[in-house]
Amino acid sequence: KKTIYFSGIQPTGIPHLGNYFGVIDPWIELQKLKEESIGMILSIVDQHAISLGPLKAEDLRSNTRQMACSLIACGVDPQKTLLFRQSDVPEIAQLSWILGSLQTTSKLARLPQYKEKSEKFKKGDIPVGLLTYPLLQAADVLMFRATHVPVGEDQSQHMNLMGGLAYAFSKTYNTDFLPIPKQVTRKTNARIKSLRDPTKKMSKSSGGDKSRIELTDSREAIFEKCQKAQSDNLGKITYDPENRIAVANLLDLLSAISQKSIEEIPFENWTTLDLKQHLAQEIDQKLEPIRRNLRELENGSKIDVILKENEEKARNLAQENMKEIRKIVGFL
Ligand code: ATP
Ligand code: MG
Repeated sequence: KKTIYFSGIQPTGIPHLGNYFGVIDPWIELQKLKEESIGMILSIVDQHAISLGPLKAEDLRSNTRQMACSLIACGVDPQKTLLFRQSDVPEIAQLSWILGSLQTTSKLARLPQYKEKSEKFKKGDIPVGLLTYPLLQAADVLMFRATHVPVGEDQSQHMNLMGGLAYAFSKTYNTDFLPIPKQVTRKTNARIKSLRDPTKKMSKSSGGDKSRIELTDSREAIFEKCQKAQSDNLGKITYDPENRIAVANLLDLLSAISQKSIEEIPFENWTTLDLKQHLAQEIDQKLEPIRRNLRELENGSKIDVILKENEEKARNLAQENMKEIRKIVGFL
């Protein structure tokens, strides 16, 4: 069977360091190893972006374009990666409907992300999309018969559900058309935490502006956010992820950004302020070229051409698979 990597990212905002270390950087590493026989498909999942409720059309459009630019600015290579917009491929939504017939509402309602995100709504006000989101996510991957899914650690429960759906599809229809996709998650930095609350993950859509460092943040913003990041007042820096979770998060970030192990970071004589300043300095240095690439891409029309071309490529792949799925299910 052919190896196909698939991943998606929501255009709910500008990618942050969690997205970068959780998925973008691993993706670029995989891309370097890519051979002719391997497929790499990356989707900007704009339909997922309205699962918490509708957005202004203009905002959704510009966020989607900006996400595409950000990914390329980070090193996603459109020659090697099929980068496309989810809503350009309506077959995915049809597949998610089919998957819905193989899933129960109670199982969806038990998912931790659903519980967490639905808490922000008043009882009775929870959008349907928030519950059925994992079905659409499963359809994203299964539509392309992907075998491997590089994602951050926060997606583990959704990946389990997806595996269950592929299995149920195979059993129900006695077919091996849809492979059970494997989650690919780095052992380190698969979950970057919020700068304001290290018990939560860094996120695009919650936690507030100061909780995340976005790839477009200016040097000043980076220094300010690092300065204000949660730490503790134990003074002398030690690495203790269990008891000093906030400081450990900053050290983990510094380790990721400087490509050094924790042991290689000379923090013995640092104060908390030293740690924050080293971190800000390394982040700014890392993001500087990305910011520059991004500005260029946003002002040009290269991205629009890429998305237009890829709409057709992605749709052709999906239509081919959908034809078979429709036969299997009895629609054709
Ligand atoms: P949202 O808050 O809108 O859900 P998000 O920051 O969680 O945004 P997603 O678009 O949902 O981002 O996820 C894109 C990818 O980034 C996924 O593979 C996800 O696992 C990964 N990811 C998200 N947050 C983190 C994090 N804090 N650490 C590591 N990986 C992350
Ligand atoms: Mg998310």
